[in-house]
Amino acid sequence: MQALNQLVQDAMDTAQGHLVLSPNEAEVARQLQICNACRYCEGFCAVFPAMTRRLSFEKNDIHYMANLCHSCGACLHACQYADPHDFQVNIPQSMAKVRLETYQAYAWPKSMGKWYQHNGLWIAICLTLSLAFFITLIMLRQNAQLFDSTKVLGFYDVLNHNALVSLFAPIFLFDVLALGMGLYAFLSNITPVTGEVAPSSEAAMEATHNMLSLKYLDGGHGEGCNNEDDTFTLAKRRAHHMTFYGFMLCFAATSVATFYHYALGLQAPYAWSSLPKLLGIVGGVSLLLGSLELARLNLSRHKDHGDAKQKPMDLGFIALLILASSTGLGLWLMGQTKLMPLLYALHLGSIMALFLTLPYGKFAHGIYRGASLVRFSVEKRQASRLILKED
Ligand code: SF4
Ligand code: SF4
Repeated sequence: MQALNQLVQDAMDTAQGHLVLSPNEAEVARQLQICNACRYCEGFCAVFPAMTRRLSFEKNDIHYMANLCHSCGACLHACQYADPHDFQVNIPQSMAKVRLETYQAYAWPKSMGKWYQHNGLWIAICLTLSLAFFITLIMLRQNAQLFDSTKVLGFYDVLNHNALVSLFAPIFLFDVLALGMGLYAFLSNITPVTGEVAPSSEAAMEATHNMLSLKYLDGGHGEGCNNEDDTFTLAKRRAHHMTFYGFMLCFAATSVATFYHYALGLQAPYAWSSLPKLLGIVGGVSLLLGSLELARLNLSRHKDHGDAKQKPMDLGFIALLILASSTGLGLWLMGQTKLMPLLYALHLGSIMALFLTLPYGKFAHGIYRGASLVRFSVEKRQASRLILKED
């Protein structure tokens, strides 16, 4: 009986949780009421056109709009109601605070949502070093001559293919499941408030274009966003492009190598001119330069942009990208030297740490943002519900 009461209580708490706004959500709702009367920033990004379709803002509307925003700062620098005005409007900061709540709310498994609070720079570094140490122990089990200074070893001499697969396959499959469950929960919540219509091919094409071109990082006028001050810069857009496409090329390099191994029976190491090597080198350089620039932009960002509390999470993710790409390029340059085993362990450790934290770090923002952009392209093709109400 007690268990049944608890279940009923949990269900009621959950239901209320869907209705009651958190303090951060209530603050976004307050500020959006002001913006809805002002509408000066209408052309800046997708948030404002979505806002004008609403007179009030429920929890799901706010989750949807918070993930349409990417804290570019343009509307803060343009705002006549920002600090020191009594209205204290700061859309990028209040949206960022809600975004963190959405990452936690839609995390799967739920208990892992708290990782978002601790997913910082030091955790990223310590996790990488611990995993690198663990991988070194596995290497030593496979090859007792790992640190024999007279020998230059190959990759499979220190860690065979089966060990590599058994280390990474479970993590990769878990990532797919965790990110998929989070995306499903997020979409289930924002779809009803953006019109229960599936994306048409036109809407899907537009959303894909907006995602891949990072359209809303152009500030709405093509000159870019603000970062440190009132001047516009395209640096953030370029850095995101380099990081994203670098990551995808590295992923493509691994996928092609897997195809070579299993389908064509071709074993690594591959020649410099082979497809996996070329994709990996171009991807690695792009990923490294993009993430270094992201780190610079993050550290020099205006203090009122975004949520300062989330800096450790952002920097932790960026640090893992830098570690994974720099050690990967290091292996390309020094793979034939005696430093290879240590560099290889560090590279694998950083990739493992990156994939372990992927569903609970900044990466999830890309997933929820993509989903919000799809719903935005669907919603904008429908008649405004405000007009329908007037009829
Ligand atoms: S951010 Fe400021 S200027 Fe922009 S729409 Fe809102 S209130 Fe107006
Ligand atoms: S900070 Fe940038 S992305 Fe966010 S609402 Fe303002 S203009 Fe749009």
